[in-house]
Amino acid sequence: MSGDARMPGADPVALAQALIRCASVTPADDGALDVVQRALEARGFTCWRLPFNEVDNLFARRGTTAPHLCFAGHTDVVPPGAAAWSHPPFAAEIQDGILYGRGAQDMKGAIAAFIAAIPDSNPGSLSLLITGDEEGPSVDGTKRVLEWMEAKGHIPDICVVGEPTSKVVLGDTIKIGRRGSMNAWITVHGRQGHSAYPQKADNPVHRLLAALAELTATPLDDGSEWFEASTLQVTGIQVDNAATNVIPAEARAFLNIRFNERHHSAALTEHLRAVLTRHAPQHELRVVVSGESFLTQPGPFVDALVRATRATTGVTPKLDTGGGTSDARFITRLCPVAELGGVGSTMHQVDERVPLAELHALTTLYAGIIKELLA
Ligand SMILES: [Zn+2]
Repeated sequence: MSGDARMPGADPVALAQALIRCASVTPADDGALDVVQRALEARGFTCWRLPFNEVDNLFARRGTTAPHLCFAGHTDVVPPGAAAWSHPPFAAEIQDGILYGRGAQDMKGAIAAFIAAIPDSNPGSLSLLITGDEEGPSVDGTKRVLEWMEAKGHIPDICVVGEPTSKVVLGDTIKIGRRGSMNAWITVHGRQGHSAYPQKADNPVHRLLAALAELTATPLDDGSEWFEASTLQVTGIQVDNAATNVIPAEARAFLNIRFNERHHSAALTEHLRAVLTRHAPQHELRVVVSGESFLTQPGPFVDALVRATRATTGVTPKLDTGGGTSDARFITRLCPVAELGGVGSTMHQVDERVPLAELHALTTLYAGIIKELLA
């Protein structure tokens, strides 16, 4: 599988193909982490396999001193879907200089590129945190591995996540933050009754609507230097009542909140509870936080990423905080983190693919980053 005589497996294309040929739809691994482990051990890394429940993960490190640069990524992929692919999703076929397969962009291609970019030796420490649970519930993946790293003293100084952040051309976007996301399920209790005698009932629909009206009337904020305004969206209202002359006993609503670094989920939960208490004292509120927001303030670390990107691609990256959540939300707790990877134009789509030229260019970009950050 080697295209490089100097070091077995240093060819990002062969490595990406080997990874894509593992049908690692979350939480299955299908040998993907073995491919990573073999390639890293050949480069002198010590590897730890870290299975938690049905998810397998890997941490690898070469060097014991500072500075410690960590590359984070995931070998799991989303399902191929029902639509027909022009090339089978796990065959890793190449046609006209383009590699097809699930994970080509998100993000087996980036893992292959980073491994291929690893120099023969490095000052400080180089490590890789590769999880098999990023596209799934993200419970037994990066979060658990970080706890293990903390306990074992493998805390990085800086971390680059290889998510496909580039929009049009390689290197055009670096993500330095992500919004947080939380979901809320609200149940308002009232008293059932005849709609002709509302004074004898307590209408939970009216109470719920009043609370939702207040929650949606005032914006949570007007954005910040790096983020758009936080948003609160009512995603569903449910009243189990087919009768036209009955005031129901219960009304439910569902909310999704995407929030910037001016908020924390705990304070937002309190805000929801306070508004609900005002309009509907008899309520239940259930909140599930997908992730807090994070922001890595531009400074020497981000500057170094920008410099390396410009030097290797000729593109000046834009710093961005858009999109959904990623595992960087967990890593930010330990060290400054930013995300930089290939173009995400076909990720999660049918016929996911990456041009071989981009894989090679991403390898050069990652080599530049390693050099810049571990100098
Ligand atoms: Zn991804």
